[in-house]
Amino acid sequence: MADRKVAVQLTGLRKRFGDLEVLKGVSLTAHSGDVIAIIGGSGSGKSTLLRCINFLETPTAGEVRLHGELVAMKPDGEGGFRAADPAQLNRLRARLGMVFQSFNLWPHRTVLENVIEAPVHVLGQNRDAAIANAERLLDRVGLLAKRDVYPEMLSGGQKQRAAIARALAVDPHAMLFDEPTSALDPELVGEVLSVIADLAREGRTMILVTHEMQFARNVASEIIFLRNGLIEEQGKPSDVFDNPKSEALRAFLAPKY
Ligand code: ADP
Ligand code: MG
Repeated sequence: MADRKVAVQLTGLRKRFGDLEVLKGVSLTAHSGDVIAIIGGSGSGKSTLLRCINFLETPTAGEVRLHGELVAMKPDGEGGFRAADPAQLNRLRARLGMVFQSFNLWPHRTVLENVIEAPVHVLGQNRDAAIANAERLLDRVGLLAKRDVYPEMLSGGQKQRAAIARALAVDPHAMLFDEPTSALDPELVGEVLSVIADLAREGRTMILVTHEMQFARNVASEIIFLRNGLIEEQGKPSDVFDNPKSEALRAFLAPKY
């Protein structure tokens, strides 16, 4: 296992918003092929953690390595840090696929245009090649028939599957999912989870925040329980779910599991 590539590595990651320290020193490593599920209560810092990985938020302290490469940071003059080398950051984060709770598709672009956007405009791929790849990905998530429609014409589950195809289009080193099913009507959750489970089975590296505990148990190689900005407990799904050590994790799992 030791020779597997490191896709995402966080070391001592901290994030502060004003007086509120949301992440208080989080370290985690996702090797290639790992599926890490982050669970925890509302406000525990799950979204902030994911957003720090692709620098939608800049960490206040600590290190981020993407695909083995340390993201260079320098002091921002306000007690925090920012990326020291925007070109490096853009190159590294271009190969992260992020799927949000709220879909985040471009409303004025068709499904196909959404999927080819990053490959063509960020990665500089040839448009025809990007279209061929996008069609293959849309077929994979069951949406090829919707390639020319606009997002508003899609159901929530279809939107999220389109967002997954878009994330896949950059051939990501890691995929980041932030509660991908929590905005969906219950009957649409399954179709999205089954696409994500397929990706996990084929060895896609992913870090996903989810409230779907049964799903996390089935697909994750590792569970991380975040509480008050710190990892309170982590381990294999069977250990974490069947043998929670901390009182807080037991209390968190009790009502839903
Ligand atoms: P979770 O995803 O686990 O529910 P979040 O990471 O969204 O938690 O938020 C953790 C804490 O950080 C919350 O108290 C939230 O209000 C706060 N927070 C998140 N983003 C910001 C921000 N941009 N500015 C100020 N506070 C924020
Ligand atoms: Mg969140």
